[in-house]
Amino acid sequence: MDDKIKNSGIKPGCEVSPDNVHQTAGVKASGKDNSEISLREVKAVKSAKNKDIRLIEDGYVTVIAGPCAIESREQLDTIAKIVKESGLNFLRAGAYKPRTSPYSFQGLEHQGLEILKEIGDKYGLYTTTEVTDAETVEEVAKYADILQIGTRNMSNFALLKKVGIVANKYNRKVILKRGWAATIKEWLLAAEYITSKGDVELILCERGIRTFETYTRFTLDLSAVPVIKKLSRLPIIIDPSHAVGQSDLVIPMSRAAIAVGADGLIVEIHNQPEQALCDGQQALDTKQTHEMLRQVSGIASLLGKKIR
Ligand code: PEP
Ligand code: MN
Repeated sequence: MDDKIKNSGIKPGCEVSPDNVHQTAGVKASGKDNSEISLREVKAVKSAKNKDIRLIEDGYVTVIAGPCAIESREQLDTIAKIVKESGLNFLRAGAYKPRTSPYSFQGLEHQGLEILKEIGDKYGLYTTTEVTDAETVEEVAKYADILQIGTRNMSNFALLKKVGIVANKYNRKVILKRGWAATIKEWLLAAEYITSKGDVELILCERGIRTFETYTRFTLDLSAVPVIKKLSRLPIIIDPSHAVGQSDLVIPMSRAAIAVGADGLIVEIHNQPEQALCDGQQALDTKQTHEMLRQVSGIASLLGKKIR
């Protein structure tokens, strides 16, 4: 057991209770602020682009936008240009795609990573992409600025540990999505698996949970935002796209996410949603992207925040 864990009071195999002091992820314990790492105060990431930028900053709402999957150089170039011209700094795009069906497009994999790096560098955009297994974490970290752990992998503890080690080594940020059947406590403990491995800027992402409702793809649990703010000091962003699964519902839920206090959004956009190889039905087109940003800016400004 390393010292950080030993000193945290976490006992191997113990269940979560408000008395368990889960410190490495900045979880508030018994009203006492005794965490070792405050993720609000983490140092700026020095990416390969050699620019200092934080994913989450007080006074700002960070909007990460991009396609579900990298489909071609031309496709990512076109969408990155929209992201850049909208004044944003963060580009999302999947290279390794964990699809529910093995017959669906699985992503361009390594070639996708190369395209992502090239286009991110071209537009000066920070990139986030999903890591789907422990074997490819290091490969992904060489090409992307932010490592994203998807909902299907939130409880893949071998992957979480590896991501913590690799993110620390390469100074990468991590976005940890909530498992669609995970409780908030399970999600926070998953975050501990990562942060206990090193000084990593970790951002939680609520992306919808599974309920009896089938009209929407999942049910966006917006109450997770104030709960996370109450229990921890981790930043939290919202993915409205995977939660609702329909583009016309993304803008209202984006507004709501900012109103409830989320630190940012991760949204799927596409220049030609009807042609998308993955999740086109939930992607905002260019016009909708601009409208989303206009509306979200309005809500953010009421809270004294700016979009970045
Ligand atoms: C994604 O962001 O492309 C994705 C697959 O998300 P999730 O893991 O939330 O389904
Ligand atoms: Mn998607």
